[in-house]
Amino acid sequence: MSSPNAESTAFRSALEVIRAVEPRIADAIGAELADQRESLKLIASENYASPATLLAMGNWFSDKYAEGTIGRRFYAGCQNVDIVEALAAEHAKELFGAAHAYVQPHSGIDANLVAFWAILADRVESPALRRAQVRQVNDLTEQDWFALRRELGDQRMLGMSLDSGGHLTHGFRPNISGKMFDQRSYGTDPATGLIDYDRVAEAAREFRPLILVAGYSAYPRKVNFRIMREIADSVGATFMVDMAHFAGLVAGKVFTGDFDPVPHAHIVTTTTHKSLRGPRGGMVLCGPELADQVDRGCPMVLGGPLPHVMAAKAVALAEARRPDFADYARRIVDNAQALAEGLLGRGAKLVTGGTDNHLVLIDVSGYGLTGRQAEQALLDSGIVTNRNAVPQDPNGAWYTSGIRVGTPALTTRGLGTAEMDATAELIHTVLSQTTPGSNADGTPSKAKYVLDPALADKVARQATDLL
Ligand SMILES: *Cc1c(COP(=O)(O)O)cnc(C)c1O
Repeated sequence: MSSPNAESTAFRSALEVIRAVEPRIADAIGAELADQRESLKLIASENYASPATLLAMGNWFSDKYAEGTIGRRFYAGCQNVDIVEALAAEHAKELFGAAHAYVQPHSGIDANLVAFWAILADRVESPALRRAQVRQVNDLTEQDWFALRRELGDQRMLGMSLDSGGHLTHGFRPNISGKMFDQRSYGTDPATGLIDYDRVAEAAREFRPLILVAGYSAYPRKVNFRIMREIADSVGATFMVDMAHFAGLVAGKVFTGDFDPVPHAHIVTTTTHKSLRGPRGGMVLCGPELADQVDRGCPMVLGGPLPHVMAAKAVALAEARRPDFADYARRIVDNAQALAEGLLGRGAKLVTGGTDNHLVLIDVSGYGLTGRQAEQALLDSGIVTNRNAVPQDPNGAWYTSGIRVGTPALTTRGLGTAEMDATAELIHTVLSQTTPGSNADGTPSKAKYVLDPALADKVARQATDLL
């Protein structure tokens, strides 16, 4: 491990170099550091990457073009990029026990697009798609695109519904996947908030999807991937798991056996910057059957790879292979459970009544607030969260009735279960002291709220003291 002194010298020097060119950017970077240091970062998808990971991103690899993949590059002089890409893939395969790893995707969305195209190319007989794969995408004619659209047809995807915690990229309208696929979703049981596997199996039998997707960004429970694979097999679907949120818990062996997606799925996608604590980016893991199609991700779906980010992925994955990462992953869940208990004990309403992963979904209708009001009131008080729909949300996806909180970032800061109880107290204090506001014409507002600024300031100071 490097010394804290070497780390702070490196960042100070970098800021000095940036300041000499555009001081306002150096200031913004400094301000961001201060914000992230002083507020309670409870956004479930955020974390703090290590100095080694951050520093691996700022260097000459950023200047190198490397379209294609190892052994099939469209550019010369990629020998050092090859080392980086191979090492990142090697660490990923070892860490997750996967046969193949593709480490180029620039984000989680991109990783999903690579996976969707790989599955389509593998499963659907389409001469136009074959033609598209041997040419640069830019060279395709309009006829090619029409043929592609006709031959791929409306393939079917079955994924988790948005308001049960599924993700936009699993076939929903605001994302291209919603235009690529005829999508149907499975929800959660209204009484328990849990996935009902019999209902998923029933939906699969009726709908007969090409792809069954599991994975979520706001479901506070484990998913049994062995059962999901059985359902996929029973209808001949390809089983894809998007572990963007919980990859760190898989890496840290908190999710094992039926709850580890890698041995059960045909293909697994993830981000690298959430609980996995790496640089912003994505990754695809799969068996040998899909490997060749996945490796065609660039240039089929992705722009040129980001070698500096692949270098940072290799660093972060090496960190995740060390024994202390397993300890980190276990503490993430201990902390989420302590936070959930702290909230429940103070009377908060939680979706599914608790958690067995890194996140907790608070139903703030119990406080008479919308998610939007709660999110802003907490932000005023130095507690950074995000609003999120709850199942069958009466306030829709914009105002929502939920607040999603997660513990990966605060666990990285070294906070433990006692601080989680204190955090629950602060959240409960703010939410129980906030009241809904009204519009100028006196009608109730779903966005405005009233919170005593002195109380918000006091909580913000208490929040900083916890860090
Ligand atoms: C965050 C997330 C993504 C998207 O990741 P980006 O890196 O923001 O593109 C995809 N799928 C799931 C389930 C996620 O939680």
